Amino acid sequence: LLQLYQPLNFFGVVYREIKQSLTDIESMVTLLGVDREVDDAPGAPALAVDGAELRFEGVEFGYDPRRPILKGVSFTVPAGKTVAIVGPSGAGKSTISRLLFRFYDTNAGRVLIDGQDIRGVTQTSLRAAIGIVPQDTVLFNDTVFYNIAYGRVGASPAEVEQAARLAHIHDFVMSLPDGYQTMVGERGLKLSGGEKQRVAIARTILKNPAILLFDEATSALDTHTEREIQANLREVSRGRTTLVIAHRLSTVIDADDILVLEAGRVIERGRHAELLAANGAYAALWTRQQEATQGAALAGDASAGD
Ligand code: ADP
Ligand code: MG
Repeated sequence: LLQLYQPLNFFGVVYREIKQSLTDIESMVTLLGVDREVDDAPGAPALAVDGAELRFEGVEFGYDPRRPILKGVSFTVPAGKTVAIVGPSGAGKSTISRLLFRFYDTNAGRVLIDGQDIRGVTQTSLRAAIGIVPQDTVLFNDTVFYNIAYGRVGASPAEVEQAARLAHIHDFVMSLPDGYQTMVGERGLKLSGGEKQRVAIARTILKNPAILLFDEATSALDTHTEREIQANLREVSRGRTTLVIAHRLSTVIDADDILVLEAGRVIERGRHAELLAANGAYAALWTRQQEATQGAALAGDASAGD
């Protein structure tokens, strides 16, 4: 029986790993809206992370070479800092996150992590170093435990609980009828947007990536959920290199640096207060969003996306 059990167990582990990487890719594909493969360079080493400084250096890119999307984008996220990218729809913000994951290679310029060109390292190590905090998390029809533990295959109950505490979801989980064994998802207990995101954050804490990527969904949220999500983001990004791709400006107020991207170029950069004072593109976007939010609130409608 033992002989039969071991290969089955082995397949179980392999199956879980395959399933995990598939689901990771699936969620990235859903989130980033892409599905492309580039090859590892022959003999490429793993990315060596030390602090995780992220740098885009003169990046030019177009999905179709005849239509450039990013036209010389340069910025640095110092180790442990948060940089936000804002700008109108279609400016190329999500394209920046796709290049960071190396779903595509740049046409010119480089993307570097701790000085290493991401084209020169394995994609597995690159993607392992980056965690996504999705705004809209789809939970599996399984237990709360499973939904968190999935951040790292083989995590112990103590590690799952620790992650849940850090994500401020532990007390909520303990209040559920079956605690960590409560079934959630479409066919189980339905969680609110903020609760689901905390589950996702607990997952990400278990994964413990050096770099966090937060690419906001375009759909609007009610003010309460939005505040909750902002607070969650602030906590999980503390001390981690974080790139926030923001559609709503309320998420970026605390960023160490904000870049305004328009038609593939960085047209302004600075902190929130500096950019408001400069009274340029950022200030105009800000005013427009404040008006839209107020208009939506007056209409009793939270669907003022971009
Ligand atoms: P943002 O996130 O700022 O709204 P994106 O980076 O998603 O903008 O898109 C920038 C431009 O690239 C848009 O004009 C968009 O239509 C185009 N684009 C995005 N994804 C693809 C794709 N997979 N193939 C071709 N064009 C794309
Ligand atoms: Mg986008």
